[in-house]
Amino acid sequence: MYNRPIRDTYLPYGRQWIDDEDIDSVVNVLKGDYLTTGPFVSNFEQEIANYVGAKYAVTFSNGTAALHGACFAAGIGNGDEVITTPLTFAASANCVLYQGGQPIFADIDEKTYNIDPKEIEKKITRKTKAIIPVHFTGQPAPLDEIYEIAKKHNLIIIEDAAHALGATYKQKRIGSISDMTMFSFHPVKHITSGEGGIITTNNKEYYNKLLQFRSHGITRDSSKMFENHGPWYYEMHFLGYNYRITDIQAALASSQLKKLDKFLDLRKKYVSMYNEAFKKITEISIPNQNENSSSSWHLYVIRLNLEQLTGNRKDIYNALFQENIGVNVHYIPVYLLPYYQELGYQQGLCPNAEKLYEEILTLPLFPAMSEKDVNDVIQAIKKVISLYTTN
Ligand SMILES: *Cc1c(COP(=O)(O)O)cnc(C)c1O
Repeated sequence: MYNRPIRDTYLPYGRQWIDDEDIDSVVNVLKGDYLTTGPFVSNFEQEIANYVGAKYAVTFSNGTAALHGACFAAGIGNGDEVITTPLTFAASANCVLYQGGQPIFADIDEKTYNIDPKEIEKKITRKTKAIIPVHFTGQPAPLDEIYEIAKKHNLIIIEDAAHALGATYKQKRIGSISDMTMFSFHPVKHITSGEGGIITTNNKEYYNKLLQFRSHGITRDSSKMFENHGPWYYEMHFLGYNYRITDIQAALASSQLKKLDKFLDLRKKYVSMYNEAFKKITEISIPNQNENSSSSWHLYVIRLNLEQLTGNRKDIYNALFQENIGVNVHYIPVYLLPYYQELGYQQGLCPNAEKLYEEILTLPLFPAMSEKDVNDVIQAIKKVISLYTTN
């Protein structure tokens, strides 16, 4: 049977927005003196610190490198345990492995899909050193409850806020609250620098460690050196990396930051269109929102009520793909990835996350899509759900 798709062209689940202003700002840097770390890097760091309300910010070549830096600054090392959520990108846990630590997965809350503080409590041991909450889809994790646990056990909190630039928790911007918070500037995130990431912090000691870590562990600050042979002299104090971002990328990120509020508004508007259209479709559940926080809506994740459907998630995924709708799945629980299985993590570790993984689909959501694109997704969902519905 010939079945005409809802759309003629493929709609991705996420995509950057680049305009002439962005292009001009990059070209401007290319004509200047600095390509790598120059004035645009420190300028962008100051802008992000101001935006989130933190004292300091340190850029990195990407969000994963930034998380690695945060784990280093937190002093995570051999044998230390760090608790995080399984429902995240591998980088949230890999950063612990880079430092010789052990990621420990605490199951998610069935309503918000964020890490469940009660599950964190169960995973605390004498070796626990830190918690890495992830603000899944942009909805803040329950930081008050997590902080209570951290205080009781003397733990450091590193927020993986790759989804949460512009989100607020109890009136406070994400990025102003924790020991360290990471944001990513990958093209599907809220603003982009191509590749890029940042750590915000209010702690001067962490700030200095982060700066040194991202540049080989080298310092040129004479007040920190053991000797001083002359103006050329520098010292390397620990094994760092070259994790620097370029001035080209920082200029792009600054230009993007000017549009962040507009981007956030568009995401919110498209989410309300989705919510309005889907709330009466009993075969799917729309995302639950906490009242004490406001999401930055990086992702729009629906949950399929499989008992009401004749197909599984893969059937729905494939059918939407046929309609030219770029759906995705966020995420495969990290410890089910083959590398983690080889490390000895067992299936069944976090049942809520594993069950949710079978039922979720991420729909297209990005500021550069149009209202027509949103309506195409809505029409495609209605069409596909009706194909797989029992009644
Ligand atoms: C994107 C992302 C990262 C990594 O950021 P990169 O800039 O791509 O390295 C880490 N954690 C989460 C949850 C992410 O979505």
